[in-house]
Amino acid sequence: MTSCVGNEASLASTGNQKQLPTVEETVQDGNILLKINNIDSGQPQILQANENERLAALDAFLGFLKLQGKETKALRVARGLAEHTRKRLNEGKALVVYNSVNVAEMAEQPVTPERATAWLAKIWSNLEERLEERETGIQDFARQAGLSIYAWPRKTSGAGGAGNNSTYAIEFLKLPSANAHSPEIAPGGVAYVQDLTLKPAFWLKPLIRTGFALKGWRRVAFLVYGFGGLAVIGALFVLLWLALTTQSARIPSGDIATLILFAAVVGWLGFAFLSPFWRLIDLRIIMAPDLLLSLRERGVQLEAAKEPAGDGQHVRVIRLVRYSARCPKCGEAVHLYNGRREFPGRLVGKCDEHPAEHVYSFDRFTKTGSPLR
Ligand SMILES: [Zn+2]
Repeated sequence: MTSCVGNEASLASTGNQKQLPTVEETVQDGNILLKINNIDSGQPQILQANENERLAALDAFLGFLKLQGKETKALRVARGLAEHTRKRLNEGKALVVYNSVNVAEMAEQPVTPERATAWLAKIWSNLEERLEERETGIQDFARQAGLSIYAWPRKTSGAGGAGNNSTYAIEFLKLPSANAHSPEIAPGGVAYVQDLTLKPAFWLKPLIRTGFALKGWRRVAFLVYGFGGLAVIGALFVLLWLALTTQSARIPSGDIATLILFAAVVGWLGFAFLSPFWRLIDLRIIMAPDLLLSLRERGVQLEAAKEPAGDGQHVRVIRLVRYSARCPKCGEAVHLYNGRREFPGRLVGKCDEHPAEHVYSFDRFTKTGSPLR
């Protein structure tokens, strides 16, 4: 018992009160005694916690990469860096930076040392683009794991010239404070992350490069698109109707068929272009029309999100995003789909492996879902 008291006294002097076990615990449990020894030494304990959080951040980063499905070379490089860093941390070694030859080895790419720099330069710029699209998701993933930092691959350019000696490493960055709600996940439910914030198809890029904030001329453009489009379609139908009713006697039947076909095409185009507009206004988030996407992207949503505009006001931002989660039943990725007839007007999360059975609801605010089957 005396030893316990002694420990307690020395603990109090470290001032590290919140991690203190009670004296009873110390007596009952040898493990906790061991912990106290660590705390006694002060500095190492703080370092230890730091290492643990770094490890957890690397785990979160790797977990996020797993969610991405098919692995590109760029993501393979990121995974290699993260795995190698995790290995060093696990072995208690100090973190180091890597050169392009190291990175090529980690990514298990058959690149000769002479060509590694050129090879990685190309892959890295691709990786930076991929990471930029996924930054929110990587942060969300770390936040859901209860962390305050996240892992981020970083290139530090060397002096350049002949012996171009850029270095590569995993950095640990502080998570930006979110509009802090860490919602409860229902039993058996899922937590979604916004894993991708996409660049839209090339023809839309100049328009919604960083989200299409609805203010100024863009707000006007958005409304003109919706209401103007409706007016144009309406006017075309009125004209058609006038043409058919006032001159029907003089129009040959072949022309009438052409006119009706024309009307059908106009109606279909009107529906295709305008219904997303109205549904987006109505539902705030819809599956993105294929028209807006590059070919390689699927399962993407068009979201009209409310974002703080700095001066306490909010601005509505239209953006292309993809929400995904990990299926708690089988561990595969969950992506969003239209609820169709079974869940009208809703988006539901379906697991990639068992889409008929592993179905979850989707709440855009809490970013959680509960099982629907
Ligand atoms: Zn599943």
